[in-house]
Amino acid sequence: MKLGSMFGDMFRSLFKKPVTEMYPFKKTSAPSRLRGELMYNPDKCTGCQLCVKDCPSNAIELITVDKASKRFVMRYHVDRCTFCAQCVENCRFECLNMSNEQWELASLKKEAFTVNYGREEDLQKLLGKPLP
Ligand code: SF4
Ligand code: SF4
Repeated sequence: MKLGSMFGDMFRSLFKKPVTEMYPFKKTSAPSRLRGELMYNPDKCTGCQLCVKDCPSNAIELITVDKASKRFVMRYHVDRCTFCAQCVENCRFECLNMSNEQWELASLKKEAFTVNYGREEDLQKLLGKPLP
């Protein structure tokens, strides 16, 4: 870079607003395609296990509550997930998506990295006793 153009840039920047974002004090919305936390809709899940088999990080488990009535609980290990979206792509029933709103996933507590998804009554039934 030539010295003249460098000073030109410096001079112009004196009269511009800083581009730095004041995160986390001021938050802007994330891009719509951002891959944040995995979300699971149990209503359409058939229990095919394709997502579990295709996950390269072993980050999801599907726990059967009642096979006949297709009731499942998904246990998601956030700390293992690489956010590749392979599971989302492969689910033929559109039960999975990656949130662009839930992406601040850092925590000081290990428990925060294990998330159980499912119908409220199924979660209560399973979480009332130790999970398999
Ligand atoms: S996004 Fe990738 S790593 Fe994360 S649960 Fe899905 S398949 Fe596994
Ligand atoms: S791939 Fe979809 S339908 Fe199959 S177990 Fe996973 S979430 Fe359920």
